[in-house]
Amino acid sequence: MNVQAEIPYKASAYKSDLKPVWCPGCGDYHVLLSMSKALAELQRKPEEVAVVSGIGCSSRMPAYLNCYGFHGVHGRALPLATGLKVARPDLTVLVAGGDGDGFSIGGNHFLHACRRNIDLTYIVMDNRVYGMTKGQPSPTTEPDWDSALSPGGTGLSPFHPLVIALASGANFVARAFSGEVNRTAEILVEAIEHPGFSFVQILSPCVTFRPEQRNWKDMIHPAPVGETDDPGRAARRIMTDDNFNIGILYRGTRRPYDTKSNQNPKALDQLDTGFAI
Ligand code: SF4
Ligand code: MG
Repeated sequence: MNVQAEIPYKASAYKSDLKPVWCPGCGDYHVLLSMSKALAELQRKPEEVAVVSGIGCSSRMPAYLNCYGFHGVHGRALPLATGLKVARPDLTVLVAGGDGDGFSIGGNHFLHACRRNIDLTYIVMDNRVYGMTKGQPSPTTEPDWDSALSPGGTGLSPFHPLVIALASGANFVARAFSGEVNRTAEILVEAIEHPGFSFVQILSPCVTFRPEQRNWKDMIHPAPVGETDDPGRAARRIMTDDNFNIGILYRGTRRPYDTKSNQNPKALDQLDTGFAI
């Protein structure tokens, strides 16, 4: 990690020397920029930030950021980040990944991370497809998406991550669009600063396997009503929106998990004593 001696940190201070290997035009480039801008806005020192991911195109994110990073196995980013945050509550822990990684193989972890309400920020770059493995339908794919790997579409109802996050106990729920770099950075700043588990779905086009998603830039619009701290009201709004309204949709007051209460764990030999026969 290249740690800058001087502050203030600019967004460029959070970019690593590695050149991303994403396809030209992939929305994830913009998310990288938004994350860098958000960290610069917050003036978090790179050595006080950790980014944890699973597997997939967007899960390459830790390599491209100049802070601590952990590229884990498929679907396991959230339990890794949970352990890290409990052990090191002083760190700002961000979790980055995609819709396949987070909602399919990692779906169970998603529910319980929301329920535990640990102070993590989960950033999901949702392109409604498995990009890295060449275009299979993901949990958020539309039922009628016709492709070589899903002729005629799957016919399956898509997973609704925002309302599931809300119902499972997340304390902050937002939707952003990768093409709106500054707005996304603003939402990420709010998400990082809000205590507890923050979930940000970023619509991030996969221009290779879903080229029609280039049209998302014409479909997105600001949320027609302001944020709420009422989960019931937020749920009704999220369930009836068009999936393209952008903004903070719920900012709650649920009590976050107290990571500081775990700071004096029993030594291993004490635990062994407890289990001695
Ligand atoms: Fe981005 Fe899709 Fe290419 Fe993956 S396959 S890098 S998601 S455009
Ligand atoms: Mg995906």
